[in-house]
Amino acid sequence: MILDIRNLSKTYSNGVQALKDVSLTISQGMFGLLGPNGAGKSSLMRTIATLQEADSGSVTLGTIDVLKQKEEVRKVLGYLPQEFGLYPKIDAITLLDHLAVLKGIGNAKQRKELVETLLHKTNLWGARNKNLGGYSGGMKQRFGIAQALLANPKLIIVDEPTAGLDPAERNRFLNLLSELGENTIVILSTHIVDDVKELCTDMAIINKGEVLYKGNPLDAIADV
Ligand code: ADP
Ligand code: ADP
Repeated sequence: MILDIRNLSKTYSNGVQALKDVSLTISQGMFGLLGPNGAGKSSLMRTIATLQEADSGSVTLGTIDVLKQKEEVRKVLGYLPQEFGLYPKIDAITLLDHLAVLKGIGNAKQRKELVETLLHKTNLWGARNKNLGGYSGGMKQRFGIAQALLANPKLIIVDEPTAGLDPAERNRFLNLLSELGENTIVILSTHIVDDVKELCTDMAIINKGEVLYKGNPLDAIADV
């Protein structure tokens, strides 16, 4: 599956032009979207995630017209915004099962198996009965991945995932992400060069709403 972004532009009502004629073709694997704060990364990711409108341009995911077929996109999308609310007074295993019910996944036995698999995969099994309010930043991020994987997504977007994580949690999270990339499009939006350098096979650099580079991370990022 290919994500094809064509001539996307967006100006906010305050006059800030966040996206200027952005075109990118993204295939399966880990894609890094690198740029400083204010570059337009979140604007681009929110548009692809159907959370905001663009002024002009088009986005297709396989055969889905992303800007028009929002429901279709949401069925195949896992989106982890920079900060996401978790119900603090519920534990991981209960919330994942509730979410699986809401998504209409399987019967009770199938849901139990899926939820257990995801908790193991994200290394949260040991904390499955703990209320989410007591989770560390890294645990919350990994819970976000478990939640995103419930829907068996074709496209996963993670926005600034390693901000605020300690080095051990950062490594743990990046390793988890790298396992997802093979059959899925994973877009890692970040201002941290090392995240892209270590993980991504393809990347773009964006600044002031414009794509400055698209290609191999090793060519773009010398030994910095
Ligand atoms: P990044 O994610 O790379 O930090 P953003 O997409 O959040 O960049 O922001 C790009 C530009 O658009 C910035 O100048 C930001 O201040 C502005 N911006 C972002 N969201 C809004 C909004 N809802 N209304 C007005 N301006 C916004
Ligand atoms: P490990 O596989 O090493 O046990 P975890 O994924 O369980 O790692 O834990 C990652 C981080 O979360 C560690 O800093 C750990 O101390 C913390 N942690 C793990 N389980 C719990 C828990 N039940 N309550 C609070 N913190 C936890």
